Formats: sequence, structure tokens, C-alpha cells
Amino acid sequence: DLWEFDPAPESADPKLKDRYTLFIDGKFVAPKSRKYFASINPATEQPLAEIPHASAKDVDAAYAAATKAAPAWATLPGAERGKYLYRLARLLQDRAREFAVAETLDGGKPIKESRDFDVPMAAAHFFYHAGWADKLAYAFPGATPVPHGVVGQVIPWNFPLLMLAWKLAPALATGNTVVLKPAETTSITALKFAEIIAEAELPPGVVNIVTGAGDVGAAVVNHPAAAKVAFTGSTEVGKVIMRSTAGTGKKLTLELGGKAANIVFDDAPLDQAVEGIVNGIFFNQGHVCCAGSRLLVQESVADAVFTRLRNRVRTLRVGDPMDKNTDIGAINSKTQLDKIAELVQAGQDEGAELYQPSCPLPKKGWFFRPSLFRGVELSHRIAREEVFGPVLSILTFRTVEEAIEKANNTAYGLSAGVWTDKGSRILKMSTALKAGVVWANTYNKFDPASPFGGYKESGFGREGGKHGLADYVKLT
Ligand code: NAD
Repeated sequence: DLWEFDPAPESADPKLKDRYTLFIDGKFVAPKSRKYFASINPATEQPLAEIPHASAKDVDAAYAAATKAAPAWATLPGAERGKYLYRLARLLQDRAREFAVAETLDGGKPIKESRDFDVPMAAAHFFYHAGWADKLAYAFPGATPVPHGVVGQVIPWNFPLLMLAWKLAPALATGNTVVLKPAETTSITALKFAEIIAEAELPPGVVNIVTGAGDVGAAVVNHPAAAKVAFTGSTEVGKVIMRSTAGTGKKLTLELGGKAANIVFDDAPLDQAVEGIVNGIFFNQGHVCCAGSRLLVQESVADAVFTRLRNRVRTLRVGDPMDKNTDIGAINSKTQLDKIAELVQAGQDEGAELYQPSCPLPKKGWFFRPSLFRGVELSHRIAREEVFGPVLSILTFRTVEEAIEKANNTAYGLSAGVWTDKGSRILKMSTALKAGVVWANTYNKFDPASPFGGYKESGFGREGGKHGLADYVKLT
């Protein structure tokens, strides 16, 4: 089975280098600036490796290589491009365990998540898009899909390898070449993926990877050679990018923040719902754009749900992300930890009631206890702002209409969850909720064939499925 596999145990060594290089024009090159910064293991606060800080000249060189490679890659028969994508997927599978360990060390997420979710989903994304490469004419009947040319891509730190796959796979399948920048706290798996690109013998310049902070991201986004820009990250930076690309003619897609409502009706199977709520908010420490961070629970079952939730949260194991039993790993950075702590303080100051289990936390590293807030009002900051941490805000409602009104009362619109026994209610909610994804009696289910993306300030454009391909082509 291509989607489920048991990687060889001997590949568990993350094989980290002391110092990484940029990947430009098929070559591993030192940054022209000669500047590097440390990538820190958030569970130990120890440096893992040195990451290059690309200069504007490196970004220029990456775009020159991508521009040179573009015509041949665009006109390569789709089946040939597909073969390269299959190769990337298989090589990633071969090194799955090594990538899972590297992802967990660099980002802080539990190894069971990087092993069972991030890496297999990334491979699945390449497999899925490999299949489209020679079928684009069928995806867009009546039109000829033409690649944009060179695409600039900037990704966040919460799913470093998976976001890379979401970006590279559709761009390459449709015949674009790429300059990609990973997030500064989690660049290691992207730079390791450059090794796979080289091993798969992709033509030089088809994929270029530059690393660094937001200034490098801005250089990638604003480079005149970028015909399309694809960004995943915060709404704040998304707005900056929208302004800076306005009037340039660049095709832009933005996958931004969220504040999803997870809605529990009184006829829902409560045990199942509680598992879905826990998964919805505590998966990846809550560093998830589509996290179910607002629980809307029908008043008649609010106490029952809270009691079950509190009991379940007591059993969550917080700690060493490399321990296979860990449920909640490390917070990705000190900056993020401070931001979470500040919003939790704001929640208490505004009068919501905080519950945290008294579980021990490791002495070293950045950790935060799973947190439940009861008595939250829509006006509270914890009901409106994205915490991007293991913090659930619980609100109540009486009627279906009130649930819809409260769920949509947000600047965001990325995802939502509905828990109910009634099929008709699921159908009604799926259109009434202004969110790109609505899960019913489940949460955080992903498939490369399903389009993912936002309404309102959660951005525009879709990733995944046939719909995601459309953002990487011009239809002529
Ligand atoms: P961020 O916006 O701070 O950074 C994202 C990336 O943008 C990083 O690589 C960063 O270096 C770069 N960057 C920073 N300033 C830039 C600028 N001016 N121009 C260009 N690039 C710049 O976001 P983050 O803290 O890394 O990620 C968390 C955010 O990402 C959350 O808001 C989350 O909801 C969102 N996210 C959304 C999705 C989605 O699919 N909608 C998926 C994952 C994360």
C-alpha cells in the first residue's frame, strides 16, 4: 500500500549536518552573505544545526536558475514530470523514519504525529499529484492549462515538511519551477528534502530552496521573476504580501490563520465528540491553522461535555516529543510560548474560567499545559484571536441558528466541525458555516484529493485536489 508503510527501523538516525547549505540550480551552495543562524530543538533549547541566512543575491541566483529551467520543465511530457514526482514520493518513503525524527527534533511535535501524519501525508501528496501530471487536460476540459512559469513559495513552521509537499507537488505537476523558503525555526527538513530532489535527479533549477527570516520571505515574494506567489502563514503577513504584490500582475494564493468553531449538538455521540474536540485542539500542540479552538456546545450538554473533557485532558501526556507515548510535545519557539501565555492571561483577565491539569512539565524546553477556558464570551480575545497553542475556548448556544451565528462571528473562515446524529443538520451546517472545510463527526481529516483553503481573512485559493491545481495554471 502506497499510503501506509513501515519504514526501515535502521533509518531512524536523523542524519543532521552541523551546517546546511542553500539549494540553488541543483547545487548545495553556501550563502553569499556567509551568515548562518542556529535551529534550536524546542524540547531541549539546544542548537541542532546551522541554517544559512540567504542574501538578496542568493534569492536572485535562485530565480535565475528557476527561470532558466522553466521552459524545458513546462514542455516536458506530463508523464515524465509525473515520474519525477513518484520518485520524490518513494525516496521520501525510504527515508521516512529519518525525516520523522528530524521533524520532531527541529519542530517539537510528537514523534507519533511526524511518523504517522506529517511524513506519510507528505509522501501521499507527491503520489497524488504525480498522477495528475499527465492528466491535466482532463482536469480542465475545454481549456489548455499552461503553467505560470516561476513560483515563489513561503511556508510556516507548524507542518514544515507537509507544507513543503503541499506547495511543491502541485507546482511541479503542472509544470512550474519553484523558489521556496521554509520558516526560520524549522528549515531542516526542507534542506534535507533538497537531498532527495538531487537524488531524484530533477533537472537543475526546477526546485530551489533558500532559507532565512521574513526578509528573505519578502525577497522571494517581491522578486520580479515570480509569476505566482503561494504563501502559507499568518494573516498579518498575508496582508503585507497582498499589498506588496498588488498591481504586479502576480497570481497570489494565501493560506492564513483560523479560529475554527467545533460545534457539539445535544444529540451528538458525546464520547466520540470529546475525542474529536481533544484531537481538534491538541493535535500538534494546537499549532494548527484549522485547529478547533472554539468549542460551541449546546447548553443542555455543556456540563456533561466539560466533565468528560476535563477527565480526558488529565490523561494527556505532555513532554519529550521523541517519546512515542507523548501526546503534547514542545511549543515551537520561545516567542510562540510567550504569545500563548499572554493570551491565556488575557482570558483570565477578561473573566473566563481556566482549567489546566496539574501534569508535570519538563524542566528544560518550551512546554505549555493543555488548557480549557469555560465561560468565554464572543468579545473575549481568546474567542477572537488565533492562539496557535493548546488552548480551547468553550462557548455555549441554545439553537441551531445561534450556533451558526456564533460560529460565523469571526474574521476567519478556514474550517469548522459539527457533531450531531442528524444527517439533515449536517447538510444544513455544511453550507451555513462560512468555512472552507466543514468536518462532520470527525476532525482534522485530510486527503490530498480534498481542496483545503479559507474564506474571509483565512485567505483564498485552494490546495489539494483538482481545485488546487487550478491555482498553478493559466487556462487558455
Ligand atoms: P508567519 O506569517 O510569521 O511566517 C510564515 C512565513 O512567512 C515564514 O517562512 C516567515 O519567515 C515568512 N515571512 C515573515 N514575514 C514575511 C514577509 N514580510 N514577507 C514574506 N514572508 C514573510 O507565520 P508563522 O508564525 O510561521 O505560522 C503560523 C501561521 O500560519 C498561523 O497564523 C497559521 O494559522 C498559519 N497557517 C495557515 C495554514 C493554512 O493552510 N491556512 C497552514 C499552516 C499555518
